[in-house]
Parts: sequence; C-alpha cells; structure tokens
Amino acid sequence: MTKRKKLLLINPFNQFKREEIFDTKSISPPLGLGVIAGLTPDEWDVELIDENFDKFVYREADLVGITALTSAAFRAYEIAELYRGKGVKVVLGGIHVSMLPDEAEKYADSIVIGEAEGVWKKLLEDFNRNKLLKRYYGDLSDLRESVIPRRDLFHKDYTYANIQTTRGCPMSCDFCSVHTFNGSKYRQRPVNEVLDEMETIDSDRLFIIDDNLIGYTKKSAERAVELFKGMIDRGIKKDWYCQASLNIADNEEVLKYAAASGCRMILIGIESEKVDQLKETNKKMNLKIGTNHYEEAFQRIHKHGISVLGALVFGLDSDSLEDIQNRTQFAIDSGIDAMQATIVTPLPGTSLFKRLEREDRLLYTNFPKDWEHYHFHEVSHKPIKMTPQQLSEAMDECWTTLWNEKTVYRKMLKTLKQTRNAKAATWAFASNTERHNTAFGKGKSSWDIESLLKGI
Ligand code: SF4
Repeated sequence: MTKRKKLLLINPFNQFKREEIFDTKSISPPLGLGVIAGLTPDEWDVELIDENFDKFVYREADLVGITALTSAAFRAYEIAELYRGKGVKVVLGGIHVSMLPDEAEKYADSIVIGEAEGVWKKLLEDFNRNKLLKRYYGDLSDLRESVIPRRDLFHKDYTYANIQTTRGCPMSCDFCSVHTFNGSKYRQRPVNEVLDEMETIDSDRLFIIDDNLIGYTKKSAERAVELFKGMIDRGIKKDWYCQASLNIADNEEVLKYAAASGCRMILIGIESEKVDQLKETNKKMNLKIGTNHYEEAFQRIHKHGISVLGALVFGLDSDSLEDIQNRTQFAIDSGIDAMQATIVTPLPGTSLFKRLEREDRLLYTNFPKDWEHYHFHEVSHKPIKMTPQQLSEAMDECWTTLWNEKTVYRKMLKTLKQTRNAKAATWAFASNTERHNTAFGKGKSSWDIESLLKGI
C-alpha cells in the first residue's frame, strides 16, 4: 500500500504586537486555504495550522502551503524557511506574494502568482513527479463550478463563517490592491452555486466577503436580489453582513430583500467626510453620491432594519491634526453605527505604495521584516502635515474616543432607535465591542462578543 501524502496548510499571524492589534475571533477564517484544501485530490491528507488561534508547533508534512497578507508575510517566510531547512517543499501564494513575487520566491520552492484555482492541481502533479516549477501563474477564474472550501478544517471559535460570491473591482482607489490582484472586471458566481454552498455552512452567522456584493451595474444589483430571494426561498436562515459600495442605499429593492434574507449590517468604505479627500484617494463611488448625502444614505439603510459599519481612513496627505479630530467626531455624530478607523497604509501593489516609495516617505523599509508594521493600526509612512509620532498619538486618542464604553453604549441606543431592529443593533454593538476590546486591552473588558450575539 502506498503511503498517503500530507499537505500542511498554514495561516500565519503577524507576531508583532499580536494581541494588542486584533481580536482573532473576529478575523475571517482563511477561506483561500479552505479552497486549496477543497481542490486537493483525495490521495492527500490535508491539515491546517491557523496561527489566529493555534500556537505554531512543527508538524511533519510532504508539502507545505502558506498564504499571507502583507502584515504576516515575514512570519510566512520564517515558517517557510523552517520547513525548507528540513528538506520539505514549500509553496507560497496569496495577495502579498502575487504583488512581490521576486521577494517571495527567495523563501519558497514554488510561488503561485494570482488566483490559485487554475494551477493548483497541476502544481500537485508536478510535485508528484518531482518537477515543481519555481512560478505558477493563476488566471482570473470565471468563478463557475467553484470548489466548496473545506470549512471542516477551520477553527470552531471563529465568530462568523465566510463565503465569497464575486471577485474583482473596476474602481482603483489609491490605497487598494484588490483591482490589481483580482482584476478590474467584476466577476460573479452563479447564484444557484452560491446557494448550494450556503446550504453546506453550519454557522448561522455569515460574512459575505465580496468587496462589493451589489456590484456596479443594474444587472449586478439584480443578481444580488436574486441571491437574497434564493436564500429566502430555500429557507437558508442566517444572519449575515457584507461589504458594499455606498450606492446600495439607492436601491430599495436590494435593501428590502437583503433585510428579509437576514442582512444585519453593511460595511461601507466611507473613508472621509471631505470631498477633497475622496478625490485624493480616488474614491469615485462616494464622490458620485457626495458627502452631503451620506446621512440620507445611512437613513435609507436604517429604514430597512440594517446597521452601517462605516470604514474611515486617517493620516491622508491632506489631513491635519484638526482633520483627525473632526473625522473622529464625524464618526460619533453621523448615522454610522459600527465605527472602523484605520491608518492609511501603503500596501505593495497599490498606487499609494508606489507614490510614497518614490517620495521616500515609507517609514519602515527593512523588508521583509518591516512588513510587520503594515497592518493599518500603526503609522508606516511619513505624513505631510504632522510627524509620524503626532499621527500615532492622534490615533490613540481617536480610538479611545470612539470606543470608550460611553460612546459605544450611546451608539447602540442610537442604532436601536434608527433601525428598530435588535439584531442590527447588537451586530453593530458587537463590532464596536471588538474594537473596544482591542483599543482598551481584552483583559480589561467584560464584553464577550460570542455571548452578545448568542443573546439575540
Ligand atoms: S477600496 Fe473597494 S472600491 Fe476601491 S478599489 Fe478597492 S475594492 Fe474597489
């Protein structure tokens, strides 16, 4: 009998300040690795080490596959070197590797550039023949007959299961690399296939991770409605949240069926309350709607019993210290229910990174080690109107202002009043709680997200 081979998949976690920055439960399960596991033929045993939860302990394997976001790239390379030092072949893939293949290939036997679906089986065949190529180039898949991710491998303590129904974005925001990695064409999975996959998910809480669930055209909005109606018709009873562009507020039908199918919260990239800054970041969708209409948009979403998770970005070139205080106050006073506030971070593959590199304004350049600083909660560039230290102090103040207990409780009452929906208010409260817990240190908080969400 031939010995079964073992593929070990690893989801590395930035070891730098890990507990201070993230509440690991609230991070999404590593869906990409679940897809890789799903694509792997039965002759392989597949295991997953997920550093979001598990302390890394060396395990034997025939082949190791690691994916990493930029902030965890150094950790990925550390683990890769450990295995390669023992003669185990290592494959690296994911968005960071795809943006910086020359860097990544120094730490791997093979790298996958782009989406892995189209090349993974060939890579395994090449491994079996001992003929691994140094690079595999994955095309943008058409998303038909997508494999169902092996969710059985994910840690059971994740707060939300996740699913992807579309990929790609025709926009080109300055700080984003999605369009570079997933392409500018908005690609959509067939609705029936998405529904089939949803039916296999045990969790009753779902995060639809698409960058924009409703897309950019009338047709893509209709497809979203078809998806929501399908959930209702098939009796898929899940509470869920998603990401969408601000124009979702213009479509009553989308909101109506989203709410009816269990939507509790929508994450919207607001970025800034100032028109000039939307121009600066090339945030075209918000510019089209206009900052004067933000409140109307939030109200229209609230009317359907859905809360708004508003993402704001700080430390833009035109930001003064006063702007940071003003944006903090805007987050509190506006109809945003759950507040996300991050520092603008130049990721490889973005126009922002290229510009700041050209202008010698990257604060940390000892790569790959310094990728640890590029995680949205630390200043990694030299701002124009203040020093990095001033920005860092202003952000500490912003976070403690946004997520102190008083503000978070007030927000919850306001959300309850505006949405008249206890679940929407609890989901927004849970989101603010995650951020409260990281801003104030988990040990000091008595709020537990799991019991909050179970209580409704
Ligand atoms: S931030 Fe959103 S809208 Fe802008 S390019 Fe990225 S995915 Fe597209």
